[in-house]
Amino acid sequence: MLVNLKEILTKAEAGNYAVGAFNSPTLESVRAVIEAAEELQAPIILSHAEVHNEIIPIEIMGPILIDFAKRANVPVTVHLDHGSNLEIVKKAIDIGFSSVMIDASHMNYEDNVRTVIEIVEYAHRQNVSVEAELGMIASSGIGGEETKGGEPFAEGDLIDYYTDPLIAKDFVEITEIDALAASFGTVHGIYLKEPNLDFDRLRAIYKNIQRPVVMHGGSGLSEEDYVTAINSGVRKINYYSYAAKAGAYAIKDFIENNSNLFYHDLTVVAKDAIKKDVIRAMKIFLNKGEVVR
Ligand SMILES: [Zn+2]
Repeated sequence: MLVNLKEILTKAEAGNYAVGAFNSPTLESVRAVIEAAEELQAPIILSHAEVHNEIIPIEIMGPILIDFAKRANVPVTVHLDHGSNLEIVKKAIDIGFSSVMIDASHMNYEDNVRTVIEIVEYAHRQNVSVEAELGMIASSGIGGEETKGGEPFAEGDLIDYYTDPLIAKDFVEITEIDALAASFGTVHGIYLKEPNLDFDRLRAIYKNIQRPVVMHGGSGLSEEDYVTAINSGVRKINYYSYAAKAGAYAIKDFIENNSNLFYHDLTVVAKDAIKKDVIRAMKIFLNKGEVVR
């Protein structure tokens, strides 16, 4: 069933777990994510990133995501990831998305606030939830759902872009967003070195905003880091790069070990590998203390 982000994350708050948000720019990835969610009987977020319009336009992929969400036997939110302006947000809502992210984090604070308020007024009228970003989440430059024009940051610059807990309080109160994408050390794409997450900052942000925190760049962390993040207020984890990598390497392996190749077999190999990785991640996000291998 299709639900909005506020509804799915309110339940996650009550249960102290996080819901995985998976970018699904191919039919294989949508099927993998939905099958994983139904198998675990757990809620899920299907995301379409604006930057992935280059792979498949939202006009084609959006209705497919909505259809899968409506037919699923678990709660599913269909979410626009890193929307850059009101036009793309309106388009997503017209298609039937139940949640949107507006990323105006590259703007100065006043313009970010003004832009987000405009989006919230438009979206909330239609029962669509809004996520916004404060601070800047870096990109490793390898894979991931990077923001438009998101340049990889130089080492040492990162701390300056971390979310300020006091500003976060003001930002959430003024804009009335449903969830905040905060920057506390995660990176979009493939990690080039062990991330060092600032959990004290995350806890301070969560305490100040009293709203779900969203972790971007959420694939490739240790199980321990996920659990600490969830126990510190993270309720939505954007997970993409490592699942996409799992699909690609399963295909590579299949091609190397089979001589009689057909394209349709590759889609099944990819789907199964993505599904396996999504299930592994979801079991951690559900935060039930199970050891996942
Ligand atoms: Zn992101």
